[in-house]
Amino acid sequence: MARLKLALYWAASCGGCDVAVLDTNEKILDIAEIADIVLWPLALDFKYDHVRAMEDKAIDVCLFNGAVRNSEQEMIARLLRDKSKTMVAFGSCACFGGIPALGNFTDRAEIFERAYVEAPSNDNLGRTFPQTATHVNGNELELPEFYDTVLTLAQVVDVEYFVPGCPPPVDLILTVVDALANNKLPLVGSTIASEKTLCDECPRKKEDKKIDKIYRSHEIIPAPERCLLEQGMICCGPATRGGCGALCIKVNMPCRGCFGPPAGVMDQGAKMVSAIASILGVENEKDLSEDDVGKLMDQIVDPAGTFYRFGLAGSLLKRKRLQQR
Ligand code: SF4
Ligand code: SF4
Ligand code: SF4
Repeated sequence: MARLKLALYWAASCGGCDVAVLDTNEKILDIAEIADIVLWPLALDFKYDHVRAMEDKAIDVCLFNGAVRNSEQEMIARLLRDKSKTMVAFGSCACFGGIPALGNFTDRAEIFERAYVEAPSNDNLGRTFPQTATHVNGNELELPEFYDTVLTLAQVVDVEYFVPGCPPPVDLILTVVDALANNKLPLVGSTIASEKTLCDECPRKKEDKKIDKIYRSHEIIPAPERCLLEQGMICCGPATRGGCGALCIKVNMPCRGCFGPPAGVMDQGAKMVSAIASILGVENEKDLSEDDVGKLMDQIVDPAGTFYRFGLAGSLLKRKRLQQR
């Protein structure tokens, strides 16, 4: 079999998805066995011009991690789309917006104000902000334009496959490598993970118990064998795609939803609100009053940031309404 031409790119990313590829340890030799890497900013010194010089579709597979939050990332996403036969949204940021997309609860002006003026370490009385063009000694220096709205990769270009996870676990990366090596890729448009929810693969006992108190992780040491949600912890398993092997659950931590919504669910946050609504109650089966439900919901700290932690950009909400300024 001809060796694959493989590109890896990071956009609005923490770098964790690239490190996850390195975490395959000696299995990275399997990747080296099947592929020539033609772009990998984290590890190799290729330039954008090298990519521009390639013929269209010269790259077999591009693993694109990170969301799209500025003009450079959008330009490279479009360039790599032109040059790649198969585009893979790799990791939760590329698939759903991920952590960077929490910025969609605000906008560029507020983010710049916080980052360049309000943050305690700043000394910026002149209110200097990044500019897309700055003239210095007769030369023009450019910076990418920072967008108000973080986008998923598929909101910018067509994407063939989605590999979720923050970052994708090593086993899942090896599944992708195996599928590439042996031409076993699923139908275009597929998410390479389970079709079911995380609850379906979770080993904890579910007893159909109602909850009337919600705990944060530091307030309780949950019993290791019982469902965390039924112990009052916000566990996003009912609204999250399986396939991670219940990594957080196994260390007694609730799921935060990094695998995104399961198949058939359009909005992970709305699904999670519905799951919580169905479990609220008291042991004697008496329904809670609306007031009681309101008080219970008030115990959830930052519900929007909890239920849309990884998926705001790709959700039905997408972002907070932009203010006219
Ligand atoms: S998905 Fe997670 S690990 Fe990957 S770039 Fe985004 S924040 Fe980092
Ligand atoms: S809610 Fe969480 S702890 Fe409970 S079964 Fe689902 S994944 Fe497991
Ligand atoms: S348990 Fe949830 S948050 Fe943790 S790795 Fe799995 S999908 Fe992601």
